[in-house]
Amino acid sequence: MKALTFQGEGDVKVMDVPKPSVKDSSDALVRITLGAVCGSDLHILHGHSPVNQGAVLGHEFVGVVEEVGPEVRRFKPGDRVVSSFFTACGHCTLCRKGWFNQCVDKGTFGHGEYFGGLGGGQAEYVVVPLAHHSMEKIPDGMSDEQAIFVGDILATGYFAAERAEIKPGDTVAVIGAGPVGLMATMCAQLFGPARVYVIDMVESRLEIAQELGGIPINAKEVHPVQAIQGYTDGLGADSSIEAVGLLSAVDTAIQCVRGGGTISMVGVPSAVQGDFPYLSVWMKSLTFRAGWCNVQAYMRPLLDLIAAGRLHPEKIISHRMKLAEAEEAYRIFDARQATKIVLTP
Ligand code: NAD
Ligand code: ZN
Repeated sequence: MKALTFQGEGDVKVMDVPKPSVKDSSDALVRITLGAVCGSDLHILHGHSPVNQGAVLGHEFVGVVEEVGPEVRRFKPGDRVVSSFFTACGHCTLCRKGWFNQCVDKGTFGHGEYFGGLGGGQAEYVVVPLAHHSMEKIPDGMSDEQAIFVGDILATGYFAAERAEIKPGDTVAVIGAGPVGLMATMCAQLFGPARVYVIDMVESRLEIAQELGGIPINAKEVHPVQAIQGYTDGLGADSSIEAVGLLSAVDTAIQCVRGGGTISMVGVPSAVQGDFPYLSVWMKSLTFRAGWCNVQAYMRPLLDLIAAGRLHPEKIISHRMKLAEAEEAYRIFDARQATKIVLTP
C-alpha cells in the first residue's frame, strides 16, 4: 500500500510499504478514506519528536472497517469509523477513572516505535489495536470531513476550552490560530463567553478565527498581552488557552490572564523544561492546566454536537489533496500557506 513515511529531519516520503493485517484479537483493519496533517506532524518533521526512520505517519483518520479480531464486538466490516489519535484499553485503573490519555496500553498512531509501534493514518490502511475503546462509529449522513477531527484537534479544542473553566460572560484569550486554536475558539463558544480574543501572526488564520466568532489580535502589529489588558480595563482575560506548542506562547497565556484566572495549555511544549513564573502564578492565584487530550471521553458527545449542527469543524479545511501529494502538503502546512489539509488515499 501507499503511505507517507518519515525519513529523517525535514524529510518525509510517500512510499510502498506492506499492508498491515489483523494480528491481535482486539485489532480492527481500517481502509482509510480520509487522513489529515496535524501540527504534531510538524514536531516530527522538525525532529522534535523522536521517530524511527520508515515509520508511517499520520494520526488523524477516518475509514471503513475491513476486518476485525474476534474480541471486537462494537464494530463489523463495512462500518464507517473515526479513531482517536491514540489507543486506550478502557479497563486499566486510570481508564476506569476516565483518564484514557493515561492508559497503561496507550500507543499513538503515526509516531513510530517509541510511541507504541502503531501504523499511521497518512496511508491506505491502518490497524487500530484495542478497537473497541479507540474508535467510534460515524453517524449516518455525516461526511468524513465533518467527522475526522473528532479523533484529535476538535477533541483537543474542546478539552482546552472545558479546562479553561469558561463562565457565561467571560473574556477568553486563545493563543494560536492554527487548527487546534481554531477548534478551541469554536468550542469556547459552547460555554457562553462574552468575548474570545485570538492571537496569531498569520492573517489568513486570524480571518478564519473571526468567522468562528473570535476577535483577532495580530501579534505582528500589537503586543498581545498589552492588547488584552487594553480590552479588559487593565485586568486581563478570565482564562487563556495555549494552542501553539512554544514556551514563549505559554508565557503569553500566563501573562494575559487576570488574578484568579485559569490557563489551559494544550500545545506540545517545544522544550522539556524552562523557566516557569512560580511567584507570579502564586501571587495571582492562577490555575494552570496542561495536557494531552483525553480524546476517548469526548468523541461521542462531539459527534452528537456535529450531527446537531452545533459544531462545524470542517470549516477550517483549506486544502484537499491526494495522499500521493503528502510531501507537498507537509511543505505548505509547515510554511503556514495552508490552515488544514486533508488527504484522500
Ligand atoms: P500549528 O503549528 O498549525 O499552529 C500553531 C499556530 O500558532 C500557528 O498559526 C502560528 O502562527 C501560531 N503561533 C506561533 N507562535 C505564536 C505566538 N508566540 N503567539 C501566538 N501564536 C503563535 O499547530 P496546530 O495543529 O494548531 O497545533 C497546535 C499545538 O497543539 C501543537 O503543538 C500540536 O502538537 C498540539 N496538539 C496537542 C494535542 C494535545 O492532545 N494536547 C493534540 C493535537 C495537537
Ligand atoms: Zn495531532
